[in-house]
Amino acid sequence: MTTKTSRIPGLHNLSPKERLQKVVEAAGLNEQVLTHLGNTGNLDPATADSMIENVIGTLNVPLGIATNLVIDGEEVLVPMATEESSVVAAVCNAARQCRGTGGFTTAMSGSLMIAQVQLVGISNPEFARLQILEHKSDIKRVCDETDPVLLKHGGGFRDIEVRILEGQTGPMVVTHLIVDTRDAMGANAVNSMAEAVAPHIEEWTGGRTYLRILSNLADRRLARARATWTLEDIGGAEVRDGILSAYDFAHTDSYRAATHNKGIMNGVSAVVLATGNDTRAVEAGAHAFAARSGQYDSLTRWEVDADGNLSGSIEMPLAVGLIGGATRSHPTARIALDIMGIETADRLARIIAAVGLAQNFAALKALATTGIQKGHMALHAKNIAVAVGATGEEVDKIAKELVSLGKVRMDVAEEILKALRE
Ligand code: NAD
Repeated sequence: MTTKTSRIPGLHNLSPKERLQKVVEAAGLNEQVLTHLGNTGNLDPATADSMIENVIGTLNVPLGIATNLVIDGEEVLVPMATEESSVVAAVCNAARQCRGTGGFTTAMSGSLMIAQVQLVGISNPEFARLQILEHKSDIKRVCDETDPVLLKHGGGFRDIEVRILEGQTGPMVVTHLIVDTRDAMGANAVNSMAEAVAPHIEEWTGGRTYLRILSNLADRRLARARATWTLEDIGGAEVRDGILSAYDFAHTDSYRAATHNKGIMNGVSAVVLATGNDTRAVEAGAHAFAARSGQYDSLTRWEVDADGNLSGSIEMPLAVGLIGGATRSHPTARIALDIMGIETADRLARIIAAVGLAQNFAALKALATTGIQKGHMALHAKNIAVAVGATGEEVDKIAKELVSLGKVRMDVAEEILKALRE
C-alpha cells in the first residue's frame, strides 16, 4: 500500500527549490530528478515563481525560426515554439513558394475586445435592455476611469451592445462592452471594466449580475492574410487541384475541418507561445469563430485566380498583445518580438495569420501529393530514436535507418540501437 498523498499543506509558501524537494520526496523520485528540474534554463526560478503558483521547475520547448516569410513587403524571421516536428519546416517551405508573388498581404479589423456582463432576475428583459443602452455615456465613463493607462495609449471604451438570451433558468440580458485594448491582449483590462460596470447595471435595472468576463470569441479583432501561389511554384495544376479538393473536404465536413484547423493552429499557437501570449485564448477564439455558421468550418479559403493560380486566405480572431501576461515577464518572449522587429500587437497578429495560412498551404500540399507521413517521418524518426534511449550520433544513424526501412517504429529502433551498441 502506498502512503502517497496529494495533500502538501503550505507548499505554496515554499521557494521553488524547497517545493521541488518536497515533490520529489512525495513522488518517491530520485536525486537525478532534483538536478534535472533544478536547472530552469533561461527562465530563472524567481521569474517563473512570479508567473504561476507552486512552481517547481520549467519545461523547455524547442524554439525554431521560420524563414522565407515576406509579409506586407517586409522580410521577417518568425520564432515558433513547438514540440511537434515538421511545423517549422512546413512554414519555411510554404513561404518560399509564394515569395515570387510578393509573399503575404495582411490586415486587421481592429483591436476591439468584448467583455460580457450577465444580468438575470429580470421579468422584462426588453425594457432592461433599453435601460442599459440609455446609459452608454455612463458606461463609457466607468470603463475609461477603470483603465486610465489604456486611455493614454489611445484605447478605451468604444461601444456597447445588449443582447437578450433565453436560458433554461430564464431570460438573461447580456451587455457587451466593446473596448479597444491597443497593444494589450486585454483580458485583465476588460474584465476589470466589466466588474466596475456591473453594480451600475444592477442599479439601473433592479436585476442581478453574475458573470463579468471577456469573450474569447474576439470577432472584432480579426486578423486577415492572403497569398498567391503560382502553378509554376507549386508544381502544376494537379497539385493545385489536389489542394482545392482537400479544402473542399474541410469546408464540407467537420471531421476533416477539425484536423485542417489543427494544422493551422500548429503554426498559430507556436508563434503565440513563443511571444508569451495566451495559446488557449487564441485557440478558443479560433474554433468558436470556425463554428460561427453553425457548422464547424475551415479558417482558410482556397480558390483559383483569373490566371489559374492558387489564392489562399485566412481570417480568424487573434487576440495577442505585446504588454501584459507573460509577454513582458518572460525574457524569451521579449526576444521573440525583437527577432520579428515588432512594435505593435496589430503587426504581431497579422504575422501570426500569415503563418497560419502558410502552415495550411504546406499541410494541404503534402496531403494532396506525397502524403503527410513522408515529411513527418524524418523528424519523427529522430524522436523515436531518442525515445528508445539513443544519444549523440546514434540518433541520426537510427533515424536514417528507420526511414530507409520505411518502418519508423519503436521496436525497430530498439533493435537497431541494440545492434549498434553490440
Ligand atoms: P495586463 O492587464 O497585464 O496589461 C494590460 C494593461 O497594460 C492595460 O490595461 C493598460 O493599462 C496597460 N498598458 C500599457 N501600455 C499599453 C498599450 N500600449 N496598449 C494597451 N495597454 C497598455 O494584461 P491584459 O492584456 O489585460 O491581459 C492578458 C492576460 O490575461 C493574459 O495573461 C491572459 O492569459 C490573461 N487572462 C485571460 C483570460 C481569457 O482569455 N479568458 C481571462 C483572464 C486572464
